[in-house]
Amino acid sequence: MATKYVYSFGDGKAEGNTKMKNLLGGKGANLAEMSSIGVPVPAGFTITTEVCTYYYQNKDTYPQSLEADVAKAIKRIERAMGRTFGNTADPLLLSVRSGARESMPGMMDTVLNLGLNDQTVQGLAATGNERFAWDSYRRFVQMYGDVVLDMKPREKTDINPFEEILEEVKKKRKIELDIDLTVDDLKLLVKKFKAAIKKHRGIIFPEDPHEQLWGAIGAVFGSWNNQRAIHYRRMNKIPDEWGTAVNVQSMVFGNMGDDSATGVAFTRNPANGDNEFYGEWLLNAQGEDVVAGTRTPQPIVTLKKEMPVAYRQLMDIRAKLEKHYKDMQDVEFTIQQGKLWMLQTRTGKRTGFADCIIAVDMVRERLITQKTAICRVNPNSLNQLLAPIFDDKAKNVAIKNGALLTKGLPAGPGAATGRIAFHADDAADMAKDGEPVILVRIETSPEDIKGMEAAKGILTARGGMTSHAALVARQMGRVCVAGCGALEIDYKKGSMKVGGQAFKEGDFISLDGTVGEVLAGQIAVSPSKVKVALFGKGAAKTAARRDRVFQAYELLMKWADKFRTMEVWTNADQPDQAAEAIVYGAQGIGLCRTEHMFFGGDRIVAVREMILADDTAGREKALKKLLPIQRRDFIGIFKAMGARPVTIRLLDPPLHEFLPHTKKEVEEVAKVMGVSPKKVVAKTESLSETNPMLGHRGCRLGVSYPEIYRMQVRAIAEAAVQVKTKNGVKVKPEIMIPLVGTWKELQLLRREAEEVIAEVMAKKKAKVKILIGTMIELPRAALTAGEIAQVADFFSFGTNDLTQTTFGLSRDDAGKFLPEYVDKGILPEDPFIAVDKTGVGRLMSIGATEGRAANPKLQVGICGEHGGEPSSVKFCHEIGLNYVSCSPPRVPIARLAAAQAALES
Ligand code: PEP
Ligand code: MG
Repeated sequence: MATKYVYSFGDGKAEGNTKMKNLLGGKGANLAEMSSIGVPVPAGFTITTEVCTYYYQNKDTYPQSLEADVAKAIKRIERAMGRTFGNTADPLLLSVRSGARESMPGMMDTVLNLGLNDQTVQGLAATGNERFAWDSYRRFVQMYGDVVLDMKPREKTDINPFEEILEEVKKKRKIELDIDLTVDDLKLLVKKFKAAIKKHRGIIFPEDPHEQLWGAIGAVFGSWNNQRAIHYRRMNKIPDEWGTAVNVQSMVFGNMGDDSATGVAFTRNPANGDNEFYGEWLLNAQGEDVVAGTRTPQPIVTLKKEMPVAYRQLMDIRAKLEKHYKDMQDVEFTIQQGKLWMLQTRTGKRTGFADCIIAVDMVRERLITQKTAICRVNPNSLNQLLAPIFDDKAKNVAIKNGALLTKGLPAGPGAATGRIAFHADDAADMAKDGEPVILVRIETSPEDIKGMEAAKGILTARGGMTSHAALVARQMGRVCVAGCGALEIDYKKGSMKVGGQAFKEGDFISLDGTVGEVLAGQIAVSPSKVKVALFGKGAAKTAARRDRVFQAYELLMKWADKFRTMEVWTNADQPDQAAEAIVYGAQGIGLCRTEHMFFGGDRIVAVREMILADDTAGREKALKKLLPIQRRDFIGIFKAMGARPVTIRLLDPPLHEFLPHTKKEVEEVAKVMGVSPKKVVAKTESLSETNPMLGHRGCRLGVSYPEIYRMQVRAIAEAAVQVKTKNGVKVKPEIMIPLVGTWKELQLLRREAEEVIAEVMAKKKAKVKILIGTMIELPRAALTAGEIAQVADFFSFGTNDLTQTTFGLSRDDAGKFLPEYVDKGILPEDPFIAVDKTGVGRLMSIGATEGRAANPKLQVGICGEHGGEPSSVKFCHEIGLNYVSCSPPRVPIARLAAAQAALES
């Protein structure tokens, strides 16, 4: 059977459904679904994503059968809508839109009012009003020129010929608003626009509706590979191979007069999660007017008064859609001469706050189960809950001093403070220089995506809660205040006036995206409510614990813990970090980097003395000074962790990291050691290495200088005994040897460690079980895991080093060129952020499997940075690790990700 490339919908029927997103794209699949559940949808059809793939694989051509299939599908639309495409008396007009598997708001192209020409415009004028018909026609000619004939300016300095003509005509007629253009003005515009097409593209505007249609279909497929779509895909990890579908649909008009309107709405509040219908509408307008943010729309509640019948219908559809999809929906609608049409529904993008609150509320409303709620919440949403907000006091003081400049729409919650940039490129450059940036625009467009990504906050003069700026900011978790009409922005001068004050590029401003305030200057930020609830004191803590965001957080964590099978540990080197991690739910310490303990105050001099010593005796002398300090450190950590396991890694980094650099430092250590500064410098030079990350570090130090590891093991054992006997804590220390490449290294170091432990236990007449294991950080270690496991109680994947050594990439320098690798699609993402499942992951899998085969009791975890990254956590679950270990604030994210992994496997 021939492949089916075209799927029709409308009139209460559909060939597709919501499950067919891969083939029909999100929009197409949901239009089909809405149509079959009886929601009024203008008839249309979807050309599948397979055609997009074909188009790119076959030099921008289509499968042979497509033309006939499209012709048949158009006939179906004509029957459903009672109008004919190209008919001069009562023409059917079409919209042509993109629709990828995952929504890519505004990134690809759209053509509206297709089918208009010098004849059909007369027919349209005869059915409605003449001005509307000619306005639709001039919009279409411009859109066709911009999109299909590629006349849209690329650079911010380029001029759009159509906009130029429009401004000229308005100036001549001494009018400011498009709405004041007369039929004659519009006719003139159409003529001039066509002339501009001839001038710039050397072709005549196509009058044939079928030619127009195929032009538009090609343009939409072509827009899958425009620069901003490519950038958006990289950012959101959408594969290039997916392609877009094309949706061709009967036009309905929201700009046919005062009984027509258009709007965008969310079935719940996408900013704070409230269970309220939340949206905006514009009287006598096209859908694009709302999304583009060129007119500031009205809140949806006002529709109730203006168009009560349509409003009631819309509320019914809201309930129907939520019940059907069991999730918050983002819908577009149009009311044409009193009749309501739904143009789109999709899962609504939301803030991290709304993500958690809606999931928890829907469980309470019995719309979804706890399991669904857990699987639905994006683990990274928790980042927002734990993100800083303005320090209340600092903000109040600033407001008292007149910092409040104006208010806009609270489009993306949170607090941001930074320097003003008026252009997306400048914002990206400033952020690269390490500056916090607030991107300030009259309105944003998809071209601004890079700057929006780089900015801490986004401020716009125009646009509503569903404008481009608001939508994209929320999705990216950026603070955003939109629709601030009081801003007077002058791009040319790089300045802005607001609230009686003038600002230029580089000046500091602050945004409160939760309430929509714009403030002058830099304002200190403070921790989130959830953090106050978890870590605060007194009344503030009590109040924060009652906050529903915190309550949603707690419930989600509770459910996550119920479903996950993998433990979540933390990487901590200080008692306060350990305590914080416990509050976040950590079940152990997976990595305590002892070298971090070496930097503090007086210790560094003793550490330097140890490193620079010429012989064992000299080192022993310095180590004696370090022993009580380390013991104290471990006592603190053991007390904080109680009966939870604490994995302490022996010294790892190359020694020269601790060497003195300045003259003062050299003199200081020379004095303590009783040698000349010259000798210290000479010794320092002798310790330097060309490639220290692959040099004398990790267990190699333990092999060369056994006294260092012996001191550390002694400090651990003595601390453990003390906390157990004096504090009655059932301590669970684990000693971890880094950078092992062969089992003999571990065997040797283990034997030495066991000797020290036995000595301490005998002397103190105590018994504490101390596990001894290793990190797996080298490919050789993973490949010989079966041997190593015979002398190890546990493995912990050090995926930072394992990634470095597997790829042969320097973890300190690769950041310079890795983004290019991701941009060019060579790597799906930075392997230092998410585990490279096929390469590094394979080594992990071999290591875990062969290690366990040799030693069934082997405990296996991960302590590289990947341990807090959701996709890596999922992978760790799949290969059967016992735990993941990550930095304290990522513990909640890992708990949720681990639960998802358990539920989805
Ligand atoms: C690792 O290599 O993954 C690790 C946790 O150790 P470090 O980052 O300290 O080298
Ligand atoms: Mg390491």
